[in-house]
Amino acid sequence: MGLHKGVIDMEKKITDIFGTLVFDEEVMEERLAKDTFRELQKTIKEGKSLNIKIANAVANAMKDWAVEHGATHYTHWFQPMTGVTAEKHDGFIGTNKNGKVILEFSGKELIKGEPDASSFPNGGLRATFEARGYTAWDPTSYAFIKNGVLCIPTAFCSYSGHALDKKTPLLRSMQAINKQTLRILKLFGNENVKNVKTTVGPEQEYFLVDKKYYEQRKDLIYTGRTLFGAPSPKGQEMEDHYFGTIKSRVQEFMNDLNEELWKLGVLVKTEHNEVAPAQHELAPIFSTTNIATDHNQLTMELIQRIAKKHGLVALLHEKPFDGINGSGKHNNWSLSTDTGVNLLEPGDTPHENAQFLLFLCAVIKAADEHQDLLRLSVATAGNDHRLGANEAPPAIISVFLGDELAEILKAIEEDRPYDSKEKEVMKIGAHVLPKFPKDTTDRNRTSPFAFTGNKFEFRMPGSSSSIAGCNIVLNTVIADELKEFADILEKAPDFSSALHALIQGTIKEHKRIIFNGNGYDDSWVEEAKKRGLLNLRTTPDALPYFIKENNIELFKRHKVFDEEEVHSRYEIMMEEYVKILHIEALTMVNMSQKEILPAVSQYSYDLAQTCAMKTEVAKLENVYEKETLKDVSALLDQAFKATKHLDKVLKEAEAIEDFEKAAFYYRDEVIPAMSALRTPCDELETLTAENVWPFPTYGKLLFGIL
Ligand code: ADP
Ligand code: MG
Repeated sequence: MGLHKGVIDMEKKITDIFGTLVFDEEVMEERLAKDTFRELQKTIKEGKSLNIKIANAVANAMKDWAVEHGATHYTHWFQPMTGVTAEKHDGFIGTNKNGKVILEFSGKELIKGEPDASSFPNGGLRATFEARGYTAWDPTSYAFIKNGVLCIPTAFCSYSGHALDKKTPLLRSMQAINKQTLRILKLFGNENVKNVKTTVGPEQEYFLVDKKYYEQRKDLIYTGRTLFGAPSPKGQEMEDHYFGTIKSRVQEFMNDLNEELWKLGVLVKTEHNEVAPAQHELAPIFSTTNIATDHNQLTMELIQRIAKKHGLVALLHEKPFDGINGSGKHNNWSLSTDTGVNLLEPGDTPHENAQFLLFLCAVIKAADEHQDLLRLSVATAGNDHRLGANEAPPAIISVFLGDELAEILKAIEEDRPYDSKEKEVMKIGAHVLPKFPKDTTDRNRTSPFAFTGNKFEFRMPGSSSSIAGCNIVLNTVIADELKEFADILEKAPDFSSALHALIQGTIKEHKRIIFNGNGYDDSWVEEAKKRGLLNLRTTPDALPYFIKENNIELFKRHKVFDEEEVHSRYEIMMEEYVKILHIEALTMVNMSQKEILPAVSQYSYDLAQTCAMKTEVAKLENVYEKETLKDVSALLDQAFKATKHLDKVLKEAEAIEDFEKAAFYYRDEVIPAMSALRTPCDELETLTAENVWPFPTYGKLLFGIL
């Protein structure tokens, strides 16, 4: 009985708080005049532009609502190309003509903001004399209150109209895929669908460490990952953390986090411990891509903020600990119509099946033809530690379909019956697909891009990245295939036979991208090479594909990026790679010179002193002191030399002006110099006394939350 009541209380609590800090449809309907509400709905659902009269009414209602919920300021909340979010707060406060203080917020202020944003990266898109960009409300994503500030989700552009953010191209890519999908649906006789949106459910991984240990490590503070650290006696080998019971301190944090996210209308649903110790995962119920992206940014922000309240620090880095699994973000992706149909859901009728197969083929063809773009959409210095390191999916793009679906495609390709008992060959549009249980499709976790029954799961994105980047690419490359399909089918004299030929031809031509085996296996690397698949292991390998002519043309064709926008993003991503490695290398030199070398030097002095005293006083042999001193001294010298060397290559790196050359130099010279320093230091950590080591060990970081 008690439990039952508890469940009811919980349900009531969630429904009571859900979306309370969001200016959503319900609030709009309640607070706006009927015609205003109707006009705004048109803007939201059909993308109609908003006139100033309506905007004024909406702004006023929004302000009243926000003030009632304790807000005093508003901000245009946007997503510059740094991949995090930005906000500049403005007060509602003003004065009327009698000099009396009032709170105001106009339609103009709602629709458009003009932050001086000259310090955001723009990759050469905005001349400095014209430093201002402008922000424009994205009415398809609701305004919300965060920390007492009304946040208005916005796009961020330069005065010449170039996108300076991640939201604008994401919205453009959604429009592109909408347009092409509608053409395809029309060919299948779906006249009543007006709008198709891509949907995303991003699963977010992260680590939690105790704040008191975090504060003692400059590497965590400056770079978000450990740059030194010997393995602890226990790692993740027991696999006892995965789905294990959640510690009460962590559970309290999670409850708090869920509650705050629910208030913001984020549909967080699942939470569990991950494979590595101290690693956790959180997943929301999927939503429209741009909202899912906004929500994922909020989720990352809140994970970090609420962890601090519990004396914890959340690490969103892709690889916080060497030798321990890193963190990713699984981007579950599908396409959904405004009539509520998931276009990647296999249907019950031959007709639905044919349509499903065509969309499936578009994804397969897109993955094969645009391996480069998919790979580079997740390329960052942090993610380079995961991809291809036998834990995350490899850097090679392939598609997992599951044995059954793969068999079906094979039968279509070879014009033979799918089921040996049946005689008829699989004819698209004439046959029902055999039912395949969803669960069997979901179990290969080594694939970078897996069909999981009614959606594709792109498993390569890093845990700290915005999901905008990979979804811009997914939407655009799939839109392009759908365009090609529509161009062919619209002209075909006989739709059915053209469709069959198209699907069969696509399978034949692109089946090399389908791989159902173990992606972590070394033999796959060989096999993929034989199939001619790309293996772009590092960020500087991958990013230059962005500015290849065919890719620029692709983005231009769908009006997602123009040429300058592609170049600016390329430059920003390469420079970010360089900056991250630069900070990491500097931090290593600093920690070595200021903490490790002096501590170990003092330790060897103590050993030498003890040794000398014992010899003098008791004429003892002192094997322990002597041997340890020898080993420690040798490693200390090695660490010193490696520090000098890292410092030297770093100075050389700093002198390189060309950002492309710099990126390759960091990869080929700085990264090896960093590992050459780490090796003797980690050995020294193992050899020295616990109280000598200047910062907390892996053991404390990974198992220190009690
Ligand atoms: P698993 O860990 O087995 O992959 P989860 O339940 O953790 O499964 O995550 C699955 C994610 O996929 C959830 O965020 C879910 O909402 C999302 N998802 C389900 N259906 C769709 C869809 N049609 N489009 C996009 N995402 C979806
Ligand atoms: Mg998953």
